[in-house]
Amino acid sequence: MSTAEKIEERKLALSADEINRWAEKLENESSENIIRWACEKFGNKLAIACSLGAEDMVIMDIAVKIKPDVHFLFLDTEFHFQDTLDLLNKAKQKYKANIISVKSEYTPQEQAQKFGPQLFFTDPNLCCTLRKVVPLRGALSNYVAWITGIRREQAPTRRNAKVVEEDKVFGLVKINPLVRWTWSDVWDYIKKNSVPYNRLHDMGYPSIGCAPCTQPVRPGQDLRAGRWTGTEKTECGLHSPDDVKKV
Ligand code: SF4
Repeated sequence: MSTAEKIEERKLALSADEINRWAEKLENESSENIIRWACEKFGNKLAIACSLGAEDMVIMDIAVKIKPDVHFLFLDTEFHFQDTLDLLNKAKQKYKANIISVKSEYTPQEQAQKFGPQLFFTDPNLCCTLRKVVPLRGALSNYVAWITGIRREQAPTRRNAKVVEEDKVFGLVKINPLVRWTWSDVWDYIKKNSVPYNRLHDMGYPSIGCAPCTQPVRPGQDLRAGRWTGTEKTECGLHSPDDVKKV
């Protein structure tokens, strides 16, 4: 059975009513309590998305204190900045975190041969599907719930995100413990708790993705304005089914 069929067949770990009830109940809880709830509820069937962005580093700092062996999934697209890979090593050393690297079935060279060079410029939705959505779908088929660093303030597409919701891309329960946080809440936490972070944040990159698709932003610009600049694309498809291509 393919991963997609496995996901379609799988029943959500919580019913729609339960998801709504928990979303309401946890709306005003602290991020620590939300993460603790998720760890207790889903145990080893819970994974944490880890792009090593500022929000994800906050979640890692909180989560390892609650469940030291919790699984973090790092999408290694093989197009990351060196600074991001340096942070990955730092995070492994500091937290001894269980970080699982997830990769595309295609190396960048194989992708270029099969789909054309610089797919990230010619068809970024397909590139994100091949290097992020499909590999993550495979990895997440081993779990029933995942935690992400989504915040409502980040983008109009995220404004209605709930603390607990159904993830329609992956067929999982999705938990967003920082959903109410502002950008300054994130940085207050990082500074106060000496959380390691990507050096690029100090160089004008508030949101960091793959190197070919991430630019620094000017003061006052939207925090995600540097992602896929000059295109209509605003999401990689992990949080928005519309951006996922059929492959
Ligand atoms: S962010 Fe860019 S390089 Fe990374 S997977 Fe998406 S399109 Fe490809």
